Amino acid sequence: MRLQDRVAVVTGAASGIGLATARRFAAEGARVVCVDIDATNARTVADEVGGEAVVADVSDEAQVRALFDGVAERHGRVDVAFNNAGISPPDDDSILVTGLEAWERVLRVNTTSVYLCCKYAIPHMQRQGKGSIINTASFVALMGAATSQIAYTASKGGVLAMTRELGVQFAREGIRVNALCPGPVATPLLMELFAKDPERAARRLVHVPMGRFADPTEIAAAVAFLASDDSSFMTAAEFVVDGGITGAYVTPL
Ligand code: NAD
Repeated sequence: MRLQDRVAVVTGAASGIGLATARRFAAEGARVVCVDIDATNARTVADEVGGEAVVADVSDEAQVRALFDGVAERHGRVDVAFNNAGISPPDDDSILVTGLEAWERVLRVNTTSVYLCCKYAIPHMQRQGKGSIINTASFVALMGAATSQIAYTASKGGVLAMTRELGVQFAREGIRVNALCPGPVATPLLMELFAKDPERAARRLVHVPMGRFADPTEIAAAVAFLASDDSSFMTAAEFVVDGGITGAYVTPL
């Protein structure tokens, strides 16, 4: 119950890592605000965890401002912001074939959204003199891949650099800002893709020392740690949860 009575905003809560984290936050005692553009699933999750659903597009400034101001107004505080919503569309590929429209769409949803969520969460945390922000980056912000998704990679690099700077800037105001860098996670979408194309899965699995993808609950456990006071001396950090990928040269057979 490390998040007892804390008010925690989770974006992208309708699916995958966000869904697992909404459940974990609730299990740790938080009042969870489940944010997503997917209204139906956001409401289902909110009902399940006894939280609140907010349907919002995190790449829209007015909606993000209304989200955080509304949470502060209704619940009195914003203790945790898990800025996690993101996309990885198929038309984001090699730089040679990825068009400007796809590039700008991915940057807007993955990076601009984090800028907006931090911009409108931080003033509430300043008033409280306390807060924890966790921004979802990725291990691809730390390593290069021959199987490129150029806009996605650049978008997560942006999240990482922005997070570091915010962590440093607000460190003496009690606000911690950390980046989460998950390795590949076995979300339903990814598993479906890999089931259809086992070679694609094998190409990636060979680089994971643990020899498997993460379960979303394993990522959620790391987020709960970063959200809670257990990580009270951590800020501006790159928190890597990747089954050993970034540490590996040769993996076990
Ligand atoms: P997911 O597709 O299962 O869930 C993402 C959620 O975000 C969806 O519910 C979607 O509706 C929501 N969303 C998308 N655009 C939105 C918008 N504009 N406004 C509000 N909500 C929006 O994805 P996931 O695998 O759980 O990924 C979550 C985060 O983790 C993403 O930032 C992703 O880039 C990152 N990540 C994922 C993996 C992985 O292997 N799955 C690895 C590293 C990082």
